[in-house]
Amino acid sequence: MKIKRFSKKPFNLEDRIGAKPVVCYPNSNLKNDNLEVLLEARKYLVKSNEIIIAPRDAKTFEVNNGNFFRIESVEGPQVGDLNLFQLNNLEEKFYSGKTRALYGTHISVGDKMYSNLPYLRSLATITWDTLDWYGYDSDGGSVHDVIGTRCDPYTSKLLSGNDYHYCCHSNLTRALVKEKNIDLKKAEQIVHDVLNVFMCTGFTNDTKQYFMKASPVRPGDYLEFFAETDLLGVLSACPGGDCGSEHSSDAAKCYPLKVSIWSVDQKYLEKIKISKTSSYNQNHGID
Ligand SMILES: [Zn+2]
Repeated sequence: MKIKRFSKKPFNLEDRIGAKPVVCYPNSNLKNDNLEVLLEARKYLVKSNEIIIAPRDAKTFEVNNGNFFRIESVEGPQVGDLNLFQLNNLEEKFYSGKTRALYGTHISVGDKMYSNLPYLRSLATITWDTLDWYGYDSDGGSVHDVIGTRCDPYTSKLLSGNDYHYCCHSNLTRALVKEKNIDLKKAEQIVHDVLNVFMCTGFTNDTKQYFMKASPVRPGDYLEFFAETDLLGVLSACPGGDCGSEHSSDAAKCYPLKVSIWSVDQKYLEKIKISKTSSYNQNHGID
């Protein structure tokens, strides 16, 4: 937070304030050449599996390269926190910060979920979003953000003094331990900043603080993705429920989430451009 109170305004203030904003990462080069193919292919999806994630808990799921998956609201409004890994190399995982730098605070159809350095490739592309009608509301809020990190017991302890074990950070960690036999310490280390599926968020106008409001999601709404490599997903049904009041506690009404996996005849994907890890040579100026 900026508290403009301590230092004096400079004499040449007008020269130094109010420059024209320049987009840091102009993304016209990232035009999604695959989108047309994906929008056609998705008409022929066949469901192969589905799992239900209980409130205040998380589950893992696997999606093969070339398949699709959906995260769906069932029973009532509920927010989900999504982690994505490359199935065979869990060091490669979703990079919410760079995805945000490229696409802005919230993502939707055609946007790619990039992986961390040094890989920086699209792990998945969003192919459908039944909430894209929401756009940005008058508070600057929108859904599916890459600005929040994930609710976690450490921040909860810092702010409230309580030990709470069912934050998304813990749910994601627990799912990796229980379902993938990963050591607790290692699992906690690889849990990363999430895509906040269905969560409605923004920054307040005055203090620029992260805000949330009740999600507009309703049963039947879904967010759909195309897997661009073999993926391990982990999804937590956030203890905040629709995140209209509070999280990191048992207070909010919570509902399950559904994850479904869909395949398609690969003939519909022949023209897909394959997502590749970065070709930067990793020299970093050292000869
Ligand atoms: Zn959460």
